Amino acid sequence: MGSSSIPYVCLNRYNIMRALLFLIFIVSTSSFVVTDPPTKLEMVIKDDLPFLVEFYKHRHQNPEISLQEKETSAELAAELRKLGIEVTEGFGGYGIVGILKNGEGPLILYRTDMDALPMYEKSELDYASKKEIDYEGLRTGTMHSCGHDVHMATWLGTARALVAMRDQWKGTLMLIGQPAEEIGKGAKMMLEAGLYDRFGVPDYGIGLHSSPTIAAGQVGFGKGFTMAYTESVDILVKGIGAHGASPHMSIDPVVIASMIVMDLQTIVSRSLKPTEAAVITVGAIQGGIKHNIIPDQVKLKLTVRTYKEEVREMVHRRIREIAEGIAIAAGLPDDMMPEVYIREESTPANYNDPDLVEAMTVSGAKAIGEDNVIYAEPVMIGEDFSMYGSTEHDVPTVLYWLGTVSEEKIEAGNLPGLHSPYYFPMPAKTIETGVAVTTQSLIDLFNG
Ligand SMILES: [Zn+2]
Ligand SMILES: [Zn+2]
Repeated sequence: MGSSSIPYVCLNRYNIMRALLFLIFIVSTSSFVVTDPPTKLEMVIKDDLPFLVEFYKHRHQNPEISLQEKETSAELAAELRKLGIEVTEGFGGYGIVGILKNGEGPLILYRTDMDALPMYEKSELDYASKKEIDYEGLRTGTMHSCGHDVHMATWLGTARALVAMRDQWKGTLMLIGQPAEEIGKGAKMMLEAGLYDRFGVPDYGIGLHSSPTIAAGQVGFGKGFTMAYTESVDILVKGIGAHGASPHMSIDPVVIASMIVMDLQTIVSRSLKPTEAAVITVGAIQGGIKHNIIPDQVKLKLTVRTYKEEVREMVHRRIREIAEGIAIAAGLPDDMMPEVYIREESTPANYNDPDLVEAMTVSGAKAIGEDNVIYAEPVMIGEDFSMYGSTEHDVPTVLYWLGTVSEEKIEAGNLPGLHSPYYFPMPAKTIETGVAVTTQSLIDLFNG
């Protein structure tokens, strides 16, 4: 956009006065509007914000868990159609694809996820979710504790802003409403349903995730690997059971499993190059039923997190070597070696294309001011957004962090994480920031 986002750069007396008056204006309206006069984008967002906050609250109160996003996707599709956007529904489960064509230009993918989690909300908001469902035989609440509701409101707000400002860009926007992110399946389902064959291979792909630590009004970018390859690994340790008082009659799988758990700790500390990253956590040990029986098997359940393929392969190899080595040392025969099973529900590491990060950082600064665009450290959580980039088509993608937290909470150190029953974003500030940064980034990318 035309005018600078930081109007008080030249520090003569006139400009300082002007800046002070302007700061008072910002504080008194508590708006993100940073330009004077406001840009078209700022005006569009200001007008649309009450609608978007209502939409957000409605979605927050009516969450649907993974693979059940029926109403959610229908509502998003209906909202896009109101804007004259061509929508395909039921594309990879409840996936939706909206195509906004606006002349010759790049094809850019922008994805929101739609699913919530099976848990009771404990936020005490007046718009808290009270919805209960039966989940795997248990009665539970449902909650948007990962902020996917705020992703949807931002996504819709961005679509609305781009329609309102269609005279300022040229190209095609591919709006993805993705199901089943929480179980790492949705992106795969949509890609396997032929997303890129049917709608074209995008020139860029962008997305965002709410951050439970960054202040509302700010966004965070990391370059390169920002989120991990996440995998679940099962190890079945076999043994020979016996009376607890006759351990010499057994080959005790509880002891073998315990040694495996301890030795797994040396993969990151001894086998991995110190400048690389990986996590191996044993989240569950299951074996035996009674004090005085040595069981004949123990199950270990691991989560494994890595960034690079060579690290991932090394970790897999070392898990196998350690499990088998300890079993051999315990005297188990060849046909009773531990079974290491790497489960298929995995998501590849998220890689933020460095050039695209550069471009979006500039756009972000234009939209919300340079000070509000911050560096975000890589994390070891996973996100299946990574799959839109890591296909055979090699699409440059960026998933950025959208700040959601109030200053008071940051000061108090009261920062419930994603998936906490107490987590919630500050709706208005978060949505206006997300729409401003995403819309400005898309306009700049469309205009090359
Ligand atoms: Zn989540
Ligand atoms: Zn999430």
